[in-house]
Amino acid sequence: MKVPLLLTQFLDRAVSLYGDKIGVIDEGKELTYRELNDRVNQLSHGLRDLGVKKGDRVAYLAPNTLEMLEGFYGVFQLGAVMVPLNIRLKPDDYLFILNHSESKVLFVDQELYHLILPIKDKLETIEAIIVHGKNPETNEIAYDEWLTQFTSAPFQRPDIDEDDVCSLLYTSGTTGNPKGVMLTHRNNYLHALITMHHLRVSDRDNYLHVLPMFHVNGWGSPFYYTANGATHICLRKAAPELIFEYIQKYQVNVMHMAPTVLNSLLQYYEQHVPIMEHPVRVVIAGSAPPPAFVTRVEKELGWEFIQVYGMTESSPLSTVSTIRSHLSDLPLHEQYRMKAKAGHAMIGCEVKVVNEHGEAVPHDGQTIGEVVVRSNGVMKGYWKNPEATMETIRNGWLHTGDMATVDSYGNIDIVDRKKDIIISGGENISSIEVEGVLYDHPSVLEVAVIAVPHEKWGETPHAFVVTRPGHTVTEQELIAFSRERLAHFKAITGVTFVDELPKTASGKIQKVHLRKEYWTSIGKADRYV
Ligand code: ATP
Ligand code: MG
Repeated sequence: MKVPLLLTQFLDRAVSLYGDKIGVIDEGKELTYRELNDRVNQLSHGLRDLGVKKGDRVAYLAPNTLEMLEGFYGVFQLGAVMVPLNIRLKPDDYLFILNHSESKVLFVDQELYHLILPIKDKLETIEAIIVHGKNPETNEIAYDEWLTQFTSAPFQRPDIDEDDVCSLLYTSGTTGNPKGVMLTHRNNYLHALITMHHLRVSDRDNYLHVLPMFHVNGWGSPFYYTANGATHICLRKAAPELIFEYIQKYQVNVMHMAPTVLNSLLQYYEQHVPIMEHPVRVVIAGSAPPPAFVTRVEKELGWEFIQVYGMTESSPLSTVSTIRSHLSDLPLHEQYRMKAKAGHAMIGCEVKVVNEHGEAVPHDGQTIGEVVVRSNGVMKGYWKNPEATMETIRNGWLHTGDMATVDSYGNIDIVDRKKDIIISGGENISSIEVEGVLYDHPSVLEVAVIAVPHEKWGETPHAFVVTRPGHTVTEQELIAFSRERLAHFKAITGVTFVDELPKTASGKIQKVHLRKEYWTSIGKADRYV
């Protein structure tokens, strides 16, 4: 008999094996897995009381909190669909997503309620707004009081199929309008099994939620750390001082984050040199970090670095950088270079880099093609957007829009997004490669490179740079620095110094905004969005 793969099984397992172990820590509150499960049952009963049924959408606008974590399981038990909202959007974005997803109930953290207030009257399908927090000074339902009305007795679950949608995630919007990605229990379940293997998750892990849970379900961390009885440590704000404090306080040994956040940790570490008592291993994604960055993480922080690659549409992860034991004799700098790459397909995932005819590119580390993925993690489709689904999943392969090369070891190296590649005099230039070089400059704290128009070459690379505090560097110096280290056609031709770069809530740089601003400033807004 086929047993459906349901995410609810993960918490069931944690309760039966680790019922008395601390499952979650949030701002000093510590709950065992049994206590967490009691609250989850109360929540499911409460949702049923509100009329939420199987298949209904329930939205969450919250940072990484206990309430957010229990939300996943409370919603899943009902066979309902979790719609986690990015906390850095604008009220109008929430209006669009809440109406587009036809969400029935909205849970919102009290600190974020002001983002909902201006659009409240325009919400078409929301029947109840419930506010998390100690003093939710609103006229809405206060979560803590509301929850206590309901029993923590086991919840009678409806029949749920593994192919039922359990989460509806709007993409980061790094490149344009967010799209609603439908992921099923099966997608998330198998993704969790695969990821827990590659990241070696165990009941000894103290996992710090640096990556937001609303972002692709925190890469599934609410699922696989629970299934293995690890301890979840909630972090509301990815501030370096707080992260280091929590590492010490809670003996954190594993975190996931975007390179920009890791970069801020390296900066902080440089200035404050905290004493690390516990080995942390760290997993990052979001853009290809330069090898020098990996070296600093491993050598200075002493943390193991694992690079992963994925996208919302594939649950998200599809590849992982692994140093195979028989390659551990390679010189260290070679190993770091390899770790900076997206690496190999995870177990159960098929990942290819193909040319425009769909043929695999040679493993020469040079030929660029598009990454395509076939796996159990690939989404059911975009919500209410069959055209976009058909465009993205063709012949069973998810077309990622990411460009990559493959080296002789078979490592996939993400070169750029299709939209970010700079085409200069007919040559493709990876903005990521140029950024990697500029990151080596001692005065550069953060950098993003985009294509700008050029009379002769069509386009050339232009850098937006945030300098390190107390450092000064000129545009000419940076241009010269890039010309010394890159083929001349890849060198930057200009620099704009900025105080900060626009980023998504998960810390990814939104080049679309930089492009729009630059191209608008030169009167060519129509050519680039
Ligand atoms: P949108 O689709 O709305 O524009 P987004 O693509 O940034 O936003 P996500 O699904 O969160 O939304 O991010 C997936 C993308 O992030 C990938 O398609 C890829 O471009 C980038 N990415 C993820 N991991 C890596 C990595 N290891 N190296 C390089 N790029 C990566
Ligand atoms: Mg995308």
